[in-house]
Amino acid sequence: MTPFNYARAADVGEALALYQPGSRFIAGGTNLLDLMKENVVRPERLIDISRLPLREITVQDDDRVRIGALVSNADLAYDPLVQGRYPLLSQAILAGASPQLRNMATTGGNLLQRTRCYYFYDSTVPCNKREPGSGCPAREGLNRIHAIFGASDQCVATHPSDMCVALAALEATVEVQGPQGTRSIAFKDFHRLPGDQPERDNHLGEDELITAVQLPSEGFATHSHYLKIRDRASYAFALVSVAAALKLEGDRILEARLALGGVAHKPWRNPAVEAGLVGKAVSHETFAAAADALIQEARPLAGNAFKVKLARRAIVRALDEAVLGGQRP
Ligand SMILES: Cc1cc2nc3c(=O)[nH]c(=O)nc-3n(C[C@H](O)[C@H](O)[C@H](O)COP(=O)(O)OP(=O)(O)OC[C@H]3O[C@@H](n4cnc5c(N)ncnc54)[C@H](O)[C@@H]3O)c2cc1C
Repeated sequence: MTPFNYARAADVGEALALYQPGSRFIAGGTNLLDLMKENVVRPERLIDISRLPLREITVQDDDRVRIGALVSNADLAYDPLVQGRYPLLSQAILAGASPQLRNMATTGGNLLQRTRCYYFYDSTVPCNKREPGSGCPAREGLNRIHAIFGASDQCVATHPSDMCVALAALEATVEVQGPQGTRSIAFKDFHRLPGDQPERDNHLGEDELITAVQLPSEGFATHSHYLKIRDRASYAFALVSVAAALKLEGDRILEARLALGGVAHKPWRNPAVEAGLVGKAVSHETFAAAADALIQEARPLAGNAFKVKLARRAIVRALDEAVLGGQRP
C-alpha cells in the first residue's frame, strides 16, 4: 500500500474543504480499502466521512423518502418504512454481500463501488478502466462475468451492485454536494456506459460528495420482486439480476419497471420494453415477449453468451414473482 495521509471530517463542509486533487472520501471502506491493498487505487489523502451526520431515513413533506448517504446497507434493508414501502430495495440489499459487510457498507459507497472485473483488480495486467489507454484483456480473455449490453471496445466491465438495480427501477434521485453547491442527479443519469472513457463509472465529480438518495413515494410494494442469479447461493455477485415492479388493475398492467444487474456498466433498463407492457394483460406470453424484446440488444462475448438466455428466463420469472407479490427474504 502506498503511504497516504488521513483526515476525519465532522461535517459536509469540512469534508469538502479537506478535498485536494488525489484525495478519496472513505465511508465504510469495504471496497476502497481492498482497492488500496491491491494497488488499484493509490490516494494521497483519505478523508474519513464516516462521522458525518448523514445517517437518517426521513419522509419529506412531498412524501418522498430521503436516505442519508451514510445509512448502512443493513439499517436501510431492515428499516420498517423501507420494508413496507420499498420491499424491492430491501430484498435487493439483502441479496448482496454478507451481514458483516452490510453493517459497514453505506448507501453512498454502494453506488460508487467499482467493478469486479478480474483484470481491473490485477494491477500487473493492462486495464483501460484502471490505466486509460493500456488495453482490455477481458475482451478476448476470461469474460464469463462481463457485460452483454452497452459495452465498448475499451471496456466490457459490469457494475456489481444489487442495491443500485432496485434504485434504478424505483427511479431514485441522487443528492450531491460539491464546491459549486448542491445538485440532484436522476438515477438513470448517475452511472454511465464505458464508451471511450471507461475510467469514469458515473457523473459525480471527484470533489463532490453524495449526501443522500431520494425515493419517490410510489414504491410498488404490492407487486415487485428482486431476483438474483449467481454462482453460489450467498456471498457472490450477480451473473444476472432483475428488479421487476408492476402496478396492476385486475390483471391489466398500468405501469412496469424492469432493471437488470450484472449485465452492463450500469443498471440496465429499456424504456420501450417497459412501455410495451403497459395495457397488456398479465400472462406468461406477455412477459416472454417483453424478455425477448429486451435481449434483442444483447451483444455477448465468447464466454458469456449463457447470460442472454439466463437474462431472458430471469426477466420472465421476476415478473411472475412480482405479480404474486414476490417471495420476500
Ligand atoms: C466480499 C464482498 C462481497 C460483496 N458482495 C456484494 C454483493 O453481492 N452485492 C453488492 O451490491 N455489493 C457487494 N459488495 C460490495 C459492497 O456492497 C460495497 O463494498 C459497499 O457498498 C461500499 O460501501 P462503503 O461504504 O464500504 O464504501 P467505501 O469502500 O468506503 O467507498 C467506496 C467508494 O465510494 C466513495 N464514497 C463512499 N461514500 C461516498 C460519498 N458519500 N460521497 C462520495 N464518495 C463516496 C469512496 O471514495 C470510494 O471510492 C461486496 C463487497 C465485498 C468486499
